[in-house]
Formats: sequence, C-alpha cells, structure tokens
Amino acid sequence: MCNSAAPDRHPYAAGQTPQAYREPENAGDPGDPEAMLAPAGPQGTAGGTDAAGAGTDSARRRRKGGYPPLPEPLPVPVVDNHTHLDFREGPAVSIGDALDAAEAAGVRGVVQVGTDLASSRFTAAVVEQDPRILGAVALHPNDAPLLAEAGTLEDALAEIEQLAAGPRIRALGETGLDYFRTGDGGRGSQLMSFRRHIDIAKRLGKALQIHDRDAHDDVVATLLADGAPERVVLHCFSGDAGLARICNEQGWYMSFAGTVTFRNAGNLREALLVADPALVLTETDAPFLTPHPYRGRPNAAYMVPYTVRAMADILGTDLDSLCAQVTSNTEAVYGSWD
Ligand SMILES: [Zn+2]
Repeated sequence: MCNSAAPDRHPYAAGQTPQAYREPENAGDPGDPEAMLAPAGPQGTAGGTDAAGAGTDSARRRRKGGYPPLPEPLPVPVVDNHTHLDFREGPAVSIGDALDAAEAAGVRGVVQVGTDLASSRFTAAVVEQDPRILGAVALHPNDAPLLAEAGTLEDALAEIEQLAAGPRIRALGETGLDYFRTGDGGRGSQLMSFRRHIDIAKRLGKALQIHDRDAHDDVVATLLADGAPERVVLHCFSGDAGLARICNEQGWYMSFAGTVTFRNAGNLREALLVADPALVLTETDAPFLTPHPYRGRPNAAYMVPYTVRAMADILGTDLDSLCAQVTSNTEAVYGSWD
C-alpha cells in the first residue's frame, strides 16, 4: 500500500498552516513537560482543568513556520497508532490528502483518537470513510472532572460505550490520568472515568489507550487493581526505564512519539532501550509533539519517519526490521486495517 516514491506535491505546502476548527480541550495532551504547548494558567484549579485557554497564544505559536518537509519514505510501512485528524481544518488539508501524504511517507494507516463526545462521534464516522483509518473513542482525563461537575459524565460514558462497539473502533482511548492539568479536586472523577473505560474495554474486548501525564504510579496501580484489558497501550510513553520494565512484565505496549527525539529526553531513550521490542509502537499525537528538528511546528501523520529513524538510531538497529516489528506489534493490538 505504500508508494515507494515521494509525492511530487506536498499537500501541506503552498504556505498552508493548519487551522484547528476546534482547539483541543486536552491541549495539555503532550506527555512531556517540555511539550510545545505551555500551561495556560495556574495549576490545580478547583476540581477541573486549566486547559480551557490553551488554544490561543500557544496554538498560534505552534503554527508558526507551517508544516515541515516530507521525509524520505520508510522502507517498510508502519502505522501511526495515535493521531487527531480533527484538530485541524478540513479545507486546508483534506483527510484524504493527509492520509495520502502519510502513505507516501510509508505510514500506511492511522488510529484516529477521540478525546470527548464530539471527537469520538467524528472518529466513529470517519473510520467508515477511509480504510486507512481505525479508531479509538474516549473521554479525556482532563474532561472527566468537568463532565462530572456538569452532571453529564454518566451519559457521556454510556455514549462512549455505544460508539466503542463499532467494528472499526478498536480501542478505548485516550483515557487515563493527568495530574499535570487536573488538580486534586478533580482526581476522584478522573479516576472513576479511567476505571469505567478500563471496564468497557474489557467487556467489549477492545484495546485500551492510556494518557498518563505525571501519574505513572497511579496508572499502574489502577490497572493492576482492576485488572488490565488484554491489550494496553501507554500512548506517548513518558516514563523511564523503570516504567518500561513494568510494561515488559505486564505485556503493556509502549508507544513512542516525537518526544523520544527531543534533546532533553534521555529518560525516554533509556526506556526505549529497555523496552521489549515486541511491545514497541510509534505515533505522532499530531498535531502535537512534532519531532526534532521541527519542534514548534505542526505535526501530522506523514512525520512518523522522523521519529522511527531516530528510534532505529537509538536502538542501533536497522530501519527495515524496526519498521516490520512495529507494524507487527501494531496489528497485534488493533487488528488489521484491511
Ligand atoms: Zn492525543
């Protein structure tokens, strides 16, 4: 499915920059404290998140410079197992063009990830439109306290369960715990929501995609206490070698994003070196977490090769076998795209 030659036209070129039609509520999504989105306000605000204002100045800063150039295509196609196709404007770059650019770079498919009801509904619809897309649906951990406060968390969870039943929805995600953006007052409902997603994943036989920000210990403890689903992915893995060893023991997948290329991310590189190769995945978390040397510019699924090449360098392995391994791992989690 992968074209061997780079496309003659860069669909993101012509001065286009992404224009999110809905700024992410989870603007704190990047799992790395060095993420390009600066915190928007004081931490630990009552009961909820501080993400509401994060889509303005920080988003403009992210867009500066436009999309990075197309990378040299990967020799063996891989899949971007965590991306947000809805966090940009369709007319600027259509979803078809975005996926064509990805495919030309050796990224033959994506997992489109929902973060709230609107994006989960979008996900459930878009997976039916292009065979290169599979989906994950969930309520983001930073949204859970807000929904609980509004008294709508139960209804939202019920709809997530309905959406998750679709055959091309292969995971509950992104769910988890985020102690970076959610203060003490919101942690109870955040934990409750996480546990409900774990339960839904187990009952429906789906994978679980976890957002873990500054909450490693409690994520692990919750999974062990409740019993983890058969397939667990720590999306945008942000732990160290110690957490990687726990994942190895438990058979939990570690998905490495552009953060692994950041100069200050020695802990992630150590984790990658420790990780069982059979548990390693890759992702963009686009439009966030653009890999080095393009930090500060927008991300998209076609940029996976920058991260995978860096991973091959870190591991001292050849690119072909790393790509083949990652693809095989990805299909073990989500099943087939075909
Ligand atoms: Zn994400």
